[in-house]
Amino acid sequence: MIKINENYLKLQASYLFSTVAKKISAFSEKNPGREIIRLGIGDATRALPPACIAAFHRAVDEMADDATFRGYGPEQGYLFLREKIAENDFAARGAEVNADEIFISDGAKCDTGNFQEILSTDISIAIPDPVYPVYVDTNVMAGRTGAAVNGRFENLIYMECTDQNDYIPKIPEEPVDLVYLCFPNNPTGATITKEALGQWVDWATKNKALILYDAAYEAFIRDDAMVKSIYEIPGARKVAVEFRSFSKTAGFTGTRCAFTVVPKECMAYDAAGTAHSLHSLWNRRHSTKFNGVSYPVQRAAEAVYTPQGKKEAAQIIAGYMTNADRIRREMDDLGYAYVGGQHSPYVWIDAKTDSWNLFDRLLNEAGVVCTPGAGFGTCGTRHIRLSAFNSHQNVETAMNRIREAMKGS
Ligand code: PLP
Repeated sequence: MIKINENYLKLQASYLFSTVAKKISAFSEKNPGREIIRLGIGDATRALPPACIAAFHRAVDEMADDATFRGYGPEQGYLFLREKIAENDFAARGAEVNADEIFISDGAKCDTGNFQEILSTDISIAIPDPVYPVYVDTNVMAGRTGAAVNGRFENLIYMECTDQNDYIPKIPEEPVDLVYLCFPNNPTGATITKEALGQWVDWATKNKALILYDAAYEAFIRDDAMVKSIYEIPGARKVAVEFRSFSKTAGFTGTRCAFTVVPKECMAYDAAGTAHSLHSLWNRRHSTKFNGVSYPVQRAAEAVYTPQGKKEAAQIIAGYMTNADRIRREMDDLGYAYVGGQHSPYVWIDAKTDSWNLFDRLLNEAGVVCTPGAGFGTCGTRHIRLSAFNSHQNVETAMNRIREAMKGS
Protein backbone atom coordinates (compact mmCIF):
# COMPACT_ATOMS: atom_id res chain seq x y z
CA MET A 1 0.00 0.00 0.00
CA ILE A 2 1.34 3.38 -0.97
CA LYS A 3 1.64 5.68 2.04
CA ILE A 4 1.83 9.42 2.36
CA ASN A 5 4.27 11.59 4.25
CA GLU A 6 1.98 12.21 7.21
CA ASN A 7 3.87 15.32 8.19
CA TYR A 8 1.91 17.06 5.44
CA LEU A 9 -1.26 16.44 7.45
CA LYS A 10 0.15 18.57 10.28
CA LEU A 11 0.32 21.63 8.04
CA GLN A 12 -2.31 24.19 8.76
CA ALA A 13 -4.43 25.11 5.78
CA SER A 14 -3.52 28.61 4.69
CA TYR A 15 -6.88 30.24 5.33
CA LEU A 16 -5.38 33.68 4.93
CA PHE A 17 -5.47 34.06 1.16
CA SER A 18 -8.75 32.18 0.66
CA THR A 19 -10.47 34.24 3.37
CA VAL A 20 -9.07 37.46 1.89
CA ALA A 21 -10.32 36.40 -1.58
CA LYS A 22 -13.80 35.56 -0.24
CA LYS A 23 -14.07 38.88 1.55
CA ILE A 24 -13.00 40.75 -1.60
CA SER A 25 -15.61 38.98 -3.76
CA ALA A 26 -18.34 39.64 -1.19
CA PHE A 27 -17.34 43.33 -1.20
CA SER A 28 -17.33 43.49 -5.03
CA GLU A 29 -20.79 41.93 -5.21
CA LYS A 30 -22.15 44.48 -2.76
CA ASN A 31 -20.31 47.40 -4.39
CA PRO A 32 -20.34 46.83 -8.14
CA GLY A 33 -18.03 49.22 -9.95
CA ARG A 34 -16.15 50.27 -6.78
CA GLU A 35 -12.45 49.96 -7.56
CA ILE A 36 -10.45 47.96 -5.01
CA ILE A 37 -6.83 48.94 -4.32
CA ARG A 38 -4.63 46.05 -3.27
CA LEU A 39 -1.91 46.97 -0.81
CA GLY A 40 -1.66 43.42 0.44
CA ILE A 41 0.57 42.07 -2.28
CA GLY A 42 4.25 41.23 -1.93
CA ASP A 43 4.72 41.10 -5.69
CA ALA A 44 6.55 43.61 -7.89
CA THR A 45 4.22 45.72 -10.04
CA ARG A 46 6.76 47.67 -12.14
CA ALA A 47 8.17 46.32 -15.43
CA LEU A 48 11.68 44.83 -15.59
CA PRO A 49 14.51 47.36 -16.05
CA PRO A 50 14.96 48.08 -19.80
CA ALA A 51 18.63 46.97 -19.55
CA CYS A 52 17.42 43.52 -18.42
CA ILE A 53 14.84 43.32 -21.18
CA ALA A 54 17.46 44.17 -23.83
CA ALA A 55 19.82 41.46 -22.48
CA PHE A 56 16.92 39.01 -22.32
CA HIS A 57 16.08 39.66 -26.01
CA ARG A 58 19.70 39.28 -27.09
CA ALA A 59 19.96 35.95 -25.27
CA VAL A 60 16.72 34.68 -26.82
CA ASP A 61 18.15 35.53 -30.24
CA GLU A 62 21.28 33.51 -29.40
CA MET A 63 19.04 30.54 -28.68
CA ALA A 64 17.55 30.88 -32.20
CA ASP A 65 20.84 30.19 -33.95
CA ASP A 66 22.70 26.81 -33.95
CA ALA A 67 26.01 28.67 -33.68
CA THR A 68 25.11 30.41 -30.42
CA PHE A 69 22.47 28.05 -29.03
CA ARG A 70 23.03 26.81 -25.45
CA GLY A 71 21.67 23.59 -23.99
CA TYR A 72 22.05 22.59 -20.36
CA GLY A 73 24.09 25.12 -18.45
CA PRO A 74 26.04 24.57 -15.22
CA GLU A 75 23.56 23.66 -12.45
CA GLN A 76 25.21 26.20 -10.14
CA GLY A 77 24.70 28.99 -12.67
CA TYR A 78 26.86 30.59 -15.36
CA LEU A 79 30.12 32.09 -14.14
CA PHE A 80 29.36 35.35 -15.96
CA LEU A 81 26.52 35.95 -13.47
CA ARG A 82 28.19 34.49 -10.38
CA GLU A 83 31.26 36.68 -10.91
CA LYS A 84 29.19 39.85 -11.27
CA ILE A 85 27.33 39.02 -8.05
CA ALA A 86 30.54 38.34 -6.11
CA GLU A 87 32.07 41.59 -7.30
CA ASN A 88 29.08 43.94 -6.96
CA ASP A 89 27.02 42.57 -4.08
CA PHE A 90 29.87 41.45 -1.82
CA ALA A 91 33.44 42.57 -2.72
CA ALA A 92 32.22 46.15 -3.24
CA ARG A 93 30.98 46.11 0.38
CA GLY A 94 34.10 44.52 1.81
CA ALA A 95 32.44 41.11 2.20
CA GLU A 96 34.36 38.04 1.08
CA VAL A 97 32.26 35.80 -1.16
CA ASN A 98 33.80 33.90 -4.06
CA ALA A 99 31.95 33.26 -7.30
CA ASP A 100 32.03 29.50 -6.73
CA GLU A 101 30.25 29.94 -3.40
CA ILE A 102 27.21 31.39 -5.19
CA PHE A 103 24.45 29.03 -6.37
CA ILE A 104 22.03 30.53 -8.89
CA SER A 105 18.46 29.29 -8.56
CA ASP A 106 14.91 30.02 -9.62
CA GLY A 107 13.90 31.56 -6.31
CA ALA A 108 14.70 32.33 -2.70
CA LYS A 109 11.43 30.62 -1.83
CA CYS A 110 12.76 27.29 -3.13
CA ASP A 111 16.19 27.81 -1.58
CA THR A 112 15.00 28.88 1.87
CA GLY A 113 12.56 25.96 1.71
CA ASN A 114 15.00 23.35 0.40
CA PHE A 115 18.12 24.13 2.39
CA GLN A 116 16.88 22.26 5.48
CA GLU A 117 17.08 19.01 3.45
CA ILE A 118 20.84 18.76 3.94
CA LEU A 119 20.50 19.10 7.73
CA SER A 120 19.58 16.41 10.24
CA THR A 121 15.92 16.01 11.18
CA ASP A 122 17.16 15.84 14.76
CA ILE A 123 17.98 19.51 15.37
CA SER A 124 16.35 22.30 17.35
CA ILE A 125 15.14 25.23 15.32
CA ALA A 126 14.29 28.81 16.21
CA ILE A 127 12.13 30.95 13.95
CA PRO A 128 10.87 34.51 14.36
CA ASP A 129 7.18 35.22 14.98
CA PRO A 130 5.81 36.83 12.79
CA VAL A 131 7.54 34.93 9.99
CA TYR A 132 7.67 34.28 6.25
CA PRO A 133 5.71 30.97 6.42
CA VAL A 134 8.05 28.97 4.14
CA TYR A 135 10.64 28.50 6.92
CA VAL A 136 8.07 26.87 9.18
CA ASP A 137 6.13 24.78 6.69
CA THR A 138 9.18 23.17 5.08
CA ASN A 139 10.40 22.02 8.50
CA VAL A 140 6.94 20.65 9.27
CA MET A 141 7.02 18.71 5.99
CA ALA A 142 10.43 17.29 6.89
CA GLY A 143 9.10 16.01 10.23
CA ARG A 144 11.06 18.31 12.54
CA THR A 145 7.96 19.47 14.43
CA GLY A 146 5.08 18.02 16.36
CA ALA A 147 1.46 18.98 15.84
CA ALA A 148 0.14 22.53 15.66
CA VAL A 149 -1.36 23.64 18.94
CA ASN A 150 -3.08 27.04 19.04
CA GLY A 151 -1.35 28.12 15.87
CA ARG A 152 2.16 27.06 16.93
CA PHE A 153 4.03 23.84 16.13
CA GLU A 154 5.46 21.72 18.92
CA ASN A 155 9.27 21.42 18.90
CA LEU A 156 9.81 24.79 17.23
CA ILE A 157 11.19 27.68 19.24
CA TYR A 158 9.29 30.87 18.41
CA MET A 159 11.24 34.11 18.83
CA GLU A 160 8.64 36.80 19.40
CA CYS A 161 9.22 40.06 17.54
CA THR A 162 7.17 42.88 19.01
CA ASP A 163 7.47 46.58 19.78
CA GLN A 164 9.05 45.48 23.10
CA ASN A 165 12.21 44.35 21.28
CA ASP A 166 11.98 46.64 18.23
CA TYR A 167 10.94 43.58 16.21
CA ILE A 168 14.43 42.06 16.52
CA PRO A 169 14.40 38.46 17.84
CA LYS A 170 16.17 37.84 21.11
CA ILE A 171 18.92 35.22 21.12
CA PRO A 172 17.29 32.06 22.57
CA GLU A 173 18.39 30.88 25.99
CA GLU A 174 17.68 27.23 25.25
CA PRO A 175 19.95 25.15 22.97
CA VAL A 176 19.28 25.90 19.29
CA ASP A 177 21.09 24.45 16.25
CA LEU A 178 19.43 26.36 13.43
CA VAL A 179 18.02 29.86 13.31
CA TYR A 180 16.21 31.69 10.52
CA LEU A 181 16.74 35.45 10.31
CA CYS A 182 15.30 37.79 7.68
CA PHE A 183 16.34 41.45 7.28
CA PRO A 184 14.85 43.71 6.05
CA ASN A 185 12.04 41.61 7.40
CA ASN A 186 8.94 40.27 5.75
CA PRO A 187 6.36 41.01 7.15
CA THR A 188 7.53 43.65 9.67
CA GLY A 189 9.93 45.65 7.50
CA ALA A 190 12.29 45.87 10.51
CA THR A 191 16.05 46.08 9.95
CA ILE A 192 18.94 44.93 12.12
CA THR A 193 22.09 46.80 13.12
CA LYS A 194 25.56 45.48 12.40
CA GLU A 195 26.12 45.18 16.14
CA ALA A 196 22.98 43.09 16.76
CA LEU A 197 23.76 40.85 13.79
CA GLY A 198 27.29 40.49 15.13
CA GLN A 199 25.83 39.13 18.38
CA TRP A 200 23.98 36.46 16.40
CA VAL A 201 27.19 35.49 14.58
CA ASP A 202 29.06 35.25 17.90
CA TRP A 203 26.26 33.15 19.36
CA ALA A 204 26.26 30.77 16.35
CA THR A 205 30.06 30.46 16.51
CA LYS A 206 29.99 29.61 20.22
CA ASN A 207 27.18 27.09 19.79
CA LYS A 208 28.27 25.50 16.48
CA ALA A 209 24.87 26.60 15.18
CA LEU A 210 23.84 27.72 11.70
CA ILE A 211 22.13 30.96 10.65
CA LEU A 212 19.99 30.94 7.51
CA TYR A 213 19.96 34.63 6.61
CA ASP A 214 17.26 35.77 4.18
CA ALA A 215 18.29 39.07 2.60
CA ALA A 216 15.70 39.04 -0.20
CA TYR A 217 14.87 42.71 0.51
CA GLU A 218 18.42 44.10 0.94
CA ALA A 219 18.03 46.39 -2.09
CA PHE A 220 15.48 48.45 -0.15
CA ILE A 221 18.07 49.51 2.46
CA ARG A 222 18.51 53.20 1.74
CA ASP A 223 21.36 53.89 4.13
CA ASP A 224 24.61 52.52 2.71
CA ALA A 225 26.17 52.37 6.17
CA MET A 226 23.64 49.74 7.27
CA VAL A 227 24.46 46.05 7.03
CA LYS A 228 23.21 44.42 3.81
CA SER A 229 24.95 41.07 3.90
CA ILE A 230 25.70 38.91 6.91
CA TYR A 231 29.20 38.42 5.43
CA GLU A 232 29.99 42.01 6.37
CA ILE A 233 30.25 40.57 9.89
CA PRO A 234 33.62 38.97 10.75
CA GLY A 235 33.27 35.23 11.31
CA ALA A 236 29.94 34.91 9.47
CA ARG A 237 31.46 32.80 6.68
CA LYS A 238 31.77 29.92 9.14
CA VAL A 239 28.20 29.98 10.46
CA ALA A 240 25.85 31.56 7.92
CA VAL A 241 24.19 30.88 4.59
CA GLU A 242 22.63 33.86 2.81
CA PHE A 243 19.67 33.96 0.43
CA ARG A 244 19.16 36.71 -2.12
CA SER A 245 16.72 37.23 -4.96
CA PHE A 246 16.33 39.34 -8.10
CA SER A 247 12.57 39.22 -7.44
CA LYS A 248 12.29 42.39 -5.41
CA THR A 249 15.67 43.90 -6.42
CA ALA A 250 14.77 44.08 -10.10
CA GLY A 251 11.19 42.85 -10.51
CA PHE A 252 12.04 39.21 -11.37
CA THR A 253 9.08 37.74 -9.44
CA GLY A 254 7.62 36.32 -12.66
CA THR A 255 10.95 35.85 -14.45
CA ARG A 256 12.53 33.86 -11.58
CA CYS A 257 16.17 34.26 -10.60
CA ALA A 258 17.78 34.19 -7.17
CA PHE A 259 20.91 32.92 -5.47
CA THR A 260 22.21 31.34 -2.30
CA VAL A 261 25.67 31.87 -0.84
CA VAL A 262 27.26 28.92 0.93
CA PRO A 263 30.83 29.80 1.99
CA LYS A 264 33.33 26.96 1.85
CA GLU A 265 34.21 27.37 5.56
CA CYS A 266 30.60 26.94 6.66
CA MET A 267 30.39 23.64 8.53
CA ALA A 268 27.80 21.32 10.04
CA TYR A 269 28.50 18.17 12.02
CA ASP A 270 27.73 14.45 11.83
CA ALA A 271 26.65 12.35 14.81
CA ALA A 272 30.30 11.72 15.73
CA GLY A 273 30.97 15.47 15.78
CA THR A 274 33.04 15.51 12.59
CA ALA A 275 32.71 18.73 10.59
CA HIS A 276 31.41 18.63 7.00
CA SER A 277 31.32 21.44 4.47
CA LEU A 278 27.78 22.61 3.77
CA HIS A 279 29.07 23.90 0.44
CA SER A 280 29.76 20.37 -0.81
CA LEU A 281 26.48 19.03 0.54
CA TRP A 282 24.46 21.85 -1.04
CA ASN A 283 26.39 21.46 -4.28
CA ARG A 284 25.50 17.76 -4.28
CA ARG A 285 21.84 18.48 -3.55
CA HIS A 286 21.58 21.35 -6.04
CA SER A 287 23.22 19.48 -8.92
CA THR A 288 21.16 16.35 -8.27
CA LYS A 289 17.76 18.00 -8.01
CA PHE A 290 18.08 21.21 -10.04
CA ASN A 291 19.12 21.78 -13.64
CA GLY A 292 19.88 25.46 -13.73
CA VAL A 293 18.06 28.72 -14.45
CA SER A 294 17.46 29.38 -18.16
CA TYR A 295 20.26 31.11 -20.05
CA PRO A 296 18.21 34.17 -21.13
CA VAL A 297 17.06 34.75 -17.53
CA GLN A 298 20.65 34.63 -16.26
CA ARG A 299 21.68 37.11 -18.97
CA ALA A 300 18.79 39.38 -17.91
CA ALA A 301 19.94 39.12 -14.27
CA GLU A 302 23.54 39.88 -15.28
CA ALA A 303 22.30 43.12 -16.84
CA VAL A 304 21.21 44.33 -13.38
CA TYR A 305 24.95 44.90 -12.74
CA THR A 306 25.61 47.08 -15.78
CA PRO A 307 25.76 50.85 -15.10
CA GLN A 308 22.44 51.25 -16.90
CA GLY A 309 20.86 48.28 -15.11
CA LYS A 310 21.99 49.56 -11.70
CA LYS A 311 20.50 52.97 -12.42
CA GLU A 312 17.20 51.57 -13.65
CA ALA A 313 16.81 49.05 -10.82
CA ALA A 314 17.58 51.80 -8.28
CA GLN A 315 14.89 54.02 -9.83
CA ILE A 316 12.30 51.26 -9.54
CA ILE A 317 13.16 50.67 -5.87
CA ALA A 318 13.10 54.42 -5.21
CA GLY A 319 9.60 54.52 -6.70
CA TYR A 320 8.37 51.85 -4.31
CA MET A 321 10.04 53.63 -1.41
CA THR A 322 8.22 56.86 -2.28
CA ASN A 323 5.06 54.81 -1.80
CA ALA A 324 6.35 53.47 1.52
CA ASP A 325 7.04 57.07 2.65
CA ARG A 326 3.50 58.08 1.68
CA ILE A 327 2.04 55.17 3.70
CA ARG A 328 4.17 56.03 6.74
CA ARG A 329 3.15 59.71 6.55
CA GLU A 330 -0.50 58.76 6.54
CA MET A 331 -0.09 56.41 9.50
CA ASP A 332 1.75 59.17 11.40
CA ASP A 333 -1.13 61.57 10.73
CA LEU A 334 -3.74 59.01 11.75
CA GLY A 335 -1.84 58.10 14.93
CA TYR A 336 -1.15 54.47 14.07
CA ALA A 337 2.13 53.06 15.40
CA TYR A 338 4.17 51.10 12.87
CA VAL A 339 7.58 49.68 12.05
CA GLY A 340 9.20 49.26 8.64
CA GLY A 341 8.79 51.22 5.44
CA GLN A 342 12.09 53.06 5.89
CA HIS A 343 14.37 50.41 4.41
CA SER A 344 11.69 47.97 3.29
CA PRO A 345 8.61 47.90 1.06
CA TYR A 346 6.45 46.73 3.98
CA VAL A 347 4.89 48.78 6.77
CA TRP A 348 3.75 46.73 9.79
CA ILE A 349 1.00 48.60 11.53
CA ASP A 350 -0.37 48.15 15.04
CA ALA A 351 -4.08 47.66 14.26
CA LYS A 352 -5.15 48.59 17.82
CA THR A 353 -7.67 45.77 17.35
CA ASP A 354 -7.77 42.26 15.90
CA SER A 355 -6.04 42.26 12.49
CA TRP A 356 -9.18 40.98 10.73
CA ASN A 357 -11.27 43.82 12.21
CA LEU A 358 -9.01 46.44 10.67
CA PHE A 359 -8.83 44.41 7.44
CA ASP A 360 -12.66 44.45 7.22
CA ARG A 361 -12.82 48.12 8.00
CA LEU A 362 -10.25 49.11 5.38
CA LEU A 363 -11.96 46.95 2.78
CA ASN A 364 -15.54 47.95 3.50
CA GLU A 365 -15.00 51.63 4.22
CA ALA A 366 -12.02 52.45 1.99
CA GLY A 367 -12.00 49.71 -0.66
CA VAL A 368 -8.35 48.98 0.27
CA VAL A 369 -6.95 45.48 0.78
CA CYS A 370 -4.19 44.89 3.35
CA THR A 371 -2.68 41.67 4.68
CA PRO A 372 -3.92 40.70 8.15
CA GLY A 373 -0.91 39.99 10.35
CA ALA A 374 -2.54 36.82 11.70
CA GLY A 375 -1.32 35.06 8.53
CA PHE A 376 2.30 35.43 9.68
CA GLY A 377 2.01 34.03 13.20
CA THR A 378 0.59 34.57 16.66
CA CYS A 379 2.49 37.85 17.09
CA GLY A 380 0.70 39.23 14.04
CA THR A 381 -2.84 38.95 15.30
CA ARG A 382 -3.05 42.65 16.12
CA HIS A 383 -1.14 43.99 13.12
CA ILE A 384 -1.70 44.52 9.43
CA ARG A 385 0.90 44.71 6.64
CA LEU A 386 0.66 47.38 3.98
CA SER A 387 2.84 46.94 0.93
CA ALA A 388 4.46 49.63 -1.21
CA PHE A 389 4.29 47.44 -4.32
CA ASN A 390 1.80 49.45 -6.36
CA SER A 391 1.60 52.59 -8.51
CA HIS A 392 2.00 56.06 -6.93
CA GLN A 393 -1.51 56.91 -8.05
CA ASN A 394 -3.04 53.87 -6.37
CA VAL A 395 -1.13 54.44 -3.13
CA GLU A 396 -2.16 58.10 -3.09
CA THR A 397 -5.82 57.22 -3.67
CA ALA A 398 -5.67 54.44 -1.07
CA MET A 399 -4.19 56.76 1.57
CA ASN A 400 -6.80 59.44 0.88
CA ARG A 401 -9.57 56.89 1.19
CA ILE A 402 -8.11 55.46 4.40
CA ARG A 403 -7.89 58.97 5.86
CA GLU A 404 -11.57 59.61 5.07
CA ALA A 405 -12.59 56.25 6.53
CA MET A 406 -10.54 56.60 9.71
CA LYS A 407 -11.28 60.24 10.45
CA GLY A 408 -12.34 60.62 14.04
CA SER A 409 -11.73 56.98 14.98
N1 PLP B 1 12.10 35.49 1.18
C1 PLP B 1 11.21 36.36 1.63
C2 PLP B 1 11.38 36.92 3.00
C3 PLP B 1 10.12 36.75 0.84
O1 PLP B 1 9.23 37.62 1.30
C4 PLP B 1 9.98 36.20 -0.45
C5 PLP B 1 8.85 36.54 -1.32
O2 PLP B 1 7.91 37.20 -1.01
C6 PLP B 1 10.94 35.29 -0.87
C7 PLP B 1 11.99 34.95 -0.04
C8 PLP B 1 10.78 34.61 -2.20
O3 PLP B 1 11.52 35.18 -3.20
P1 PLP B 1 11.60 34.52 -4.64
O4 PLP B 1 10.65 35.28 -5.52
O5 PLP B 1 13.03 34.67 -5.03
O6 PLP B 1 11.21 33.08 -4.54
